[in-house]
Amino acid sequence: MKLKHLLIVSFLVLSAVPLFLSLQYLNHYTATNYRAQVADKLEALSLIAKHRIEAVVDRVKDGNALIKSRTQMRISMEKWLQHQDETALTKVNMILRDAHASMNKLHSISLYDINGMLVASSHPHPLNERLNVPIVKALPMVELRYHQSQLFMTSTDKLQVENRDIGFIQTHFYGDFIINFVRKRVGLGETGEWLFAVRNERGDAVFAVPLKYDAQAAFNRIVDKERTDVPITQALLGNEILMSNAPDYMGEPVMAYTRYLADMDWGLVVKINESEVGTMLRETKYIIYILEGVIIVLAIIVGVGVAVYVSQPIEKLIAHTDKVASGEFEQYNSSESFQEVKQLTAHFNYMIDSLKELNQNLNNKVKERTEELQTANDKLKILSITDPLTGLCNRRYLHEQLQQELARVSRYQHDLTLVLFDIDHFKSVNDKWGHDVGDVVLKRLADYLSKTFRSSDTIARFGGEEFSLILPMTNSKVALATVERARMEIAEMQFDASGTVFSVTCSFGVAQAKIEDDMDSLIKRADMALYDAKSDGRNNTKVANT
Ligand code: GH3
Ligand code: MG
Ligand code: MG
Repeated sequence: MKLKHLLIVSFLVLSAVPLFLSLQYLNHYTATNYRAQVADKLEALSLIAKHRIEAVVDRVKDGNALIKSRTQMRISMEKWLQHQDETALTKVNMILRDAHASMNKLHSISLYDINGMLVASSHPHPLNERLNVPIVKALPMVELRYHQSQLFMTSTDKLQVENRDIGFIQTHFYGDFIINFVRKRVGLGETGEWLFAVRNERGDAVFAVPLKYDAQAAFNRIVDKERTDVPITQALLGNEILMSNAPDYMGEPVMAYTRYLADMDWGLVVKINESEVGTMLRETKYIIYILEGVIIVLAIIVGVGVAVYVSQPIEKLIAHTDKVASGEFEQYNSSESFQEVKQLTAHFNYMIDSLKELNQNLNNKVKERTEELQTANDKLKILSITDPLTGLCNRRYLHEQLQQELARVSRYQHDLTLVLFDIDHFKSVNDKWGHDVGDVVLKRLADYLSKTFRSSDTIARFGGEEFSLILPMTNSKVALATVERARMEIAEMQFDASGTVFSVTCSFGVAQAKIEDDMDSLIKRADMALYDAKSDGRNNTKVANT
């Protein structure tokens, strides 16, 4: 595994993964928190609504109580009831009109006798022509009433004169306040709404106001009392609770907070569709997901960047080691800031210097050895072609040279002459003066030949006391002259053997190469000439026929 990859993986494991997990936790926390916030809001709003409605109800009750407290009205009503006194009834009607005029949002004030029969009203068409008596609920009571598409709040109370019950008073206030209130859905989002219900005789919930998804709901839409899963039923059961995923009046899952107005036996619910909560939550989540994505991408970019930044100097160093391995002993210049890399570079450069020196020494050694070997080879070569006693070329070398010269002859038709000569009666020299003296004779003859003949001529020891000369570019005539001079000079040479001077002669055989000659035939012809010279008394030169 490469260092870079290890660093990237480590970075991801150590930072991006915990980051991802904590963001996941944040997701979860946000969702829970968000739902809790919505719940808090519903709870707060529903409580405010409950208090506001209670305040209105109190005002309605107060209004009713104010009228009821008019003594003249009650006395006059009793007079009328007891004595059918028209003047008393006129007075009652007058007081009612007067009271009516002093109050806002009032539809009518009506008075009933103890049997529930209408006695007087501030309105020509009172809402109730008569009351159902006996009234079972505790008085004073406030009810909701829906009449000709109008919501009314009706307050009913007893009328007494000196603790005697003489009848009932009922005031009808316009309930626009509640309608307007439930229509305003400020802070409730797209699907949020207020539900406001009363209880019918069966105990079912009857919605008292038009609903967002059912404009005809007021005193029409009923929720069975058995449906305790529906928030409005819970409200009328007196439970003030948060409900999640509860079906509302349309069966839609909602988040709701229920409130109960005990005095009036009214239920109040504030709700928002779960789908909207989900949508808002999803939108928040998308934003968080995008943020998470950006953070993780940034983490990866930073991780890769750091990994590359950290591993790059080492990779560069590795690349340089490859160069060194291939024989380029260059110093490594790095401007890296890491202390470790600086140290590594310093050691590495020191190593390169050592390697360079080592390599140089090795090269020098190899060169030296090669030269020594070459010299040894050359020596060996010279030895292999040299006669050890005389230092002249040996017979093998002579053969090689002769082959080459003959090849030149056949190619360029140059002249070439081969000379063979042999010391006369040499055996007797050995016999007479000893073998060492014989050797001296051989060596001096060799020296003489080396000095006398051209460097282009090949002088070789052909056998024991036989010599040969290859004379290139020389015909037999020129050769004969040269050889004759040599023969005479040799004969004049003086050798010393223990104080006694002696000399030797040689017999020469000369043969000029013919175009058809090969080595053997040429040597044979020169040898034949030498043989002739010997036969002819020695110390002379014979030329083979051309
Ligand atoms: P000729 O050639 O005139 O017929 O008589 P010769 O005595 O020279 O011929 P022969 O071939 O009989 O003798 C050659 C002698 O040369 C025999 C041998 O002892 C001598 N000889 C050969 N090689 C060497 C050498 O390296 N050193 C010495 N001292 N003598 C040698
Ligand atoms: Mg001989
Ligand atoms: Mg001889």
